Amino acid sequence: MFEKILIANRGEIALRIQRACRELGVKTVAVHSEADADAKYVRLADESVCIGPPPSGQSYLNIPAIISAAEVTDAEAIHPGYGFLSENADFAERVEKSGFVFIGPRPETIRLMGDKVSAKQAMQKAGVPVVPGVEGALPESPQEVIRIARSIGYPVIIKASGGGGGRGMRVVYTEAALLNAVNTTRAEAQAAFGNPMVYMEKFLENPRHIEVQVLADEHRNAVSLGTRDCSMQRRHQKIIEEAPAPGLTAREVGRIGERCADACRKIAYRGAGTFEFLYENGEFYFIEMNTRVQVEHPVTEMVTGIDIVQTQLRIAAGEKLPFRQKDVEFRGHAIECRINAEHPFKFTPSPGRITSWHVPGGPGIRVDSHVFANYMVPPYYDSLIGKLIAFGATREQAIARMRVALSEMVVEGIQTNLPLHQEIMLDSAFLRSGTSIHYLEEKLAQANRSE
Ligand code: ADP
Repeated sequence: MFEKILIANRGEIALRIQRACRELGVKTVAVHSEADADAKYVRLADESVCIGPPPSGQSYLNIPAIISAAEVTDAEAIHPGYGFLSENADFAERVEKSGFVFIGPRPETIRLMGDKVSAKQAMQKAGVPVVPGVEGALPESPQEVIRIARSIGYPVIIKASGGGGGRGMRVVYTEAALLNAVNTTRAEAQAAFGNPMVYMEKFLENPRHIEVQVLADEHRNAVSLGTRDCSMQRRHQKIIEEAPAPGLTAREVGRIGERCADACRKIAYRGAGTFEFLYENGEFYFIEMNTRVQVEHPVTEMVTGIDIVQTQLRIAAGEKLPFRQKDVEFRGHAIECRINAEHPFKFTPSPGRITSWHVPGGPGIRVDSHVFANYMVPPYYDSLIGKLIAFGATREQAIARMRVALSEMVVEGIQTNLPLHQEIMLDSAFLRSGTSIHYLEEKLAQANRSE
């Protein structure tokens, strides 16, 4: 195991990684911007280095500053967390070229999965079910584009190969709108991602978002840790996640899990990863792979008892996975509510000073947060201030515990989305489970109309 690693991130995930390290006896180096100098995890780290002013472009995305922080502190490895540089293949390459271990997949894998066309092709080849559509980028010829759309059948979705974060996508319902949509998406993709390549696939009208967590080591061992349902979304941002995805048979879960683990072995995947699928009428359709730890990893930890972040460290240190597929057992149900500093229904960001902060507790409750009373939520970064996770023997018990926990939680001084979570925990469709990715937006739109 490493003696000392550098954590190239901030907020709750920086604290989460630090906790995993401290438990393993690994020393930590926190890097931080000027805005995060007083953060709890910065003070708890063995060493800390300020890497620049508040804007992330000058700090958390500043590759030379992060590499020199690792050099001056003699860290052996760098954990990128999620967001920021975690899926930047050039960063992973620079880390390795500078003699450090990158706690994540090989740079080539990140590059392969970072381009949606190449990722989809690689997954299809590895036997993972993908959304029906053409293989590869759309050709220039308008006649060809029209022919392809007819063969897939409307509605279709045009997606930028280099896209991410829910941007660079356009749904097309009729042939009349097709060519315009392709041209606009191409121009946007060029401007936003520096890559005009777009591709087309079938637009699924009422899918759920179901994903599969995997862990793979350098010795070609790969296991699946089962499913998560992350369908409760707004503007493609997940708000509530749960494990396992409700309503799936053990056989379905086993089969898709094995496909994903097998794909990991085929592409020599290393580290933690997530295969994201749309799920409709009993079928899985791969949309993308995230080559990093995810915000919602705790729900999987709660139902498997496996520490995903510690396992990432073990894999990066060259160890073999400490368990096999047959050792992975699922117990109970877990739900996570993302607590954001924002207006609960208008979603405008609400940074500022938190004047009081009380977190819930009791059986099955876990809170992952870097926040404390008198903490100043900086306006520069995303609005996630913590994650409330409830575990129960059944989904019903997890929901009941979540309701109690939400009612105990107090955050004053800023606005949060706690009221939205309270509402969802009473929503009859959510209680039935299996809502589509459009459910929350439709519910919010209806509430606005009746106001
Ligand atoms: P990003 O990398 O920008 O998050 P994804 O490929 O993961 O892009 O897609 C983001 C979201 O867009 C999905 O969660 C889903 O809501 C929607 N989406 C993407 N592809 C399709 C499709 N073929 N049919 C329906 N919805 C889609």
